[in-house]
Amino acid sequence: EETKRYCAGCGVLIQTEDPAGVGYAPKSALDREIVICQRCFKLKHYNQIQDVELTDDDFLRILNGIGSREALVIKIVDIFDFNGSWLPGLQRSVGSNPVLLVGNKVDLLPKSVNPNRMANWMKSEAKELGLNPVDVHLISAKKGHGIDELAEKIEYYRKGKDVYVVGCTNVGKSTLINQIIKRFGEADEAIITVSHFPGTTLDLIDVPLDDDANLYDTPGIINRHQMAHYVDAKDLKTITPKKEIKPHVFQLNPQQTLFFGGLARLDYMEGNKRSFVVYMSNELKTHRTKLDKADELYENHIGQMLNPPNEKTLEKLPPLVRHEFSLRDGVKTDIVFSGLGWVAIHGKGGRIAAWAPKGVAVTLREALV
Ligand code: GDP
Repeated sequence: EETKRYCAGCGVLIQTEDPAGVGYAPKSALDREIVICQRCFKLKHYNQIQDVELTDDDFLRILNGIGSREALVIKIVDIFDFNGSWLPGLQRSVGSNPVLLVGNKVDLLPKSVNPNRMANWMKSEAKELGLNPVDVHLISAKKGHGIDELAEKIEYYRKGKDVYVVGCTNVGKSTLINQIIKRFGEADEAIITVSHFPGTTLDLIDVPLDDDANLYDTPGIINRHQMAHYVDAKDLKTITPKKEIKPHVFQLNPQQTLFFGGLARLDYMEGNKRSFVVYMSNELKTHRTKLDKADELYENHIGQMLNPPNEKTLEKLPPLVRHEFSLRDGVKTDIVFSGLGWVAIHGKGGRIAAWAPKGVAVTLREALV
């Protein structure tokens, strides 16, 4: 007769029949002294946490739920998709709880970029978007950079209270949670549990911080403004930088255009000959053409020479929308294409137009370099 076994990770009753069901573990796992369910196994060994497509109601319920407790909120954004990974309305929902803004994927920044400038920009951009973080911190969840400092900041700002980690999908939240679990969970591997958020059916990963307080990972929220959701998996691989970005310099005359694959476009309309420095995935090809040929080139070569998008992406990609900007005198400007990277424009004044798929943000900022 079989004895009942429970997952050492989340406490669920282990079953070996339904791989898609809760508490599943393969039969061979029962030979081990300590059994964990497939879900916890994936979390532990492959950094995988199932992302849930939240309804706006569930999302709001979670945010408002956090607002009604005393807690530190950690909001994670992807520094290459700052606007696309923004969660609007967070400040209102979390009430007076402090928010620590964490920018992930700092390992992708070229050495020439000063991380402090990135952090300062994030702070001012956050304010503009209505959020007043108590601090901004940059990390690489993947490489483990800045994690110890983050742990110190969490201890400092939480003042003994619970911690909620929020962020949308693809910002590296699971990777970070796994780093945190590695640090806090070392002594006892079985302390991580999965709980439900009150009023929802959503799972939270629950990491004890001390006897009275926990760190909760809320589900990754799908943000419709993320470039990641408009491109298929293969294209996403191409546009996502894998290692430190290598800037590419283009000397442009006015009336010239740059295409970034076929996902974005930059028209140089007026100004002097000057350099445009592209900070995007090394695998995303930049094409230069004349402005008056650009529409035709796009029509004829989208999905072919101008790719990504590939055919699959083209089926769901919104049309490119044009945003026109005047450049200020005397400040170097970055044109930020959320989810792709940015282009630094040197020199004075001038006018440009930046094109990105409808719904994907294009913003200007004082250049980071
Ligand atoms: P989640 O959806 O927010 O949980 O994000 P994941 O943790 O699944 O990460 C999304 C993608 O970003 C994966 O391809 C990760 O490998 C990658 N990623 C996560 N953290 C980092 C990081 O610090 N640097 C880089 N370069 N990539 C990262």
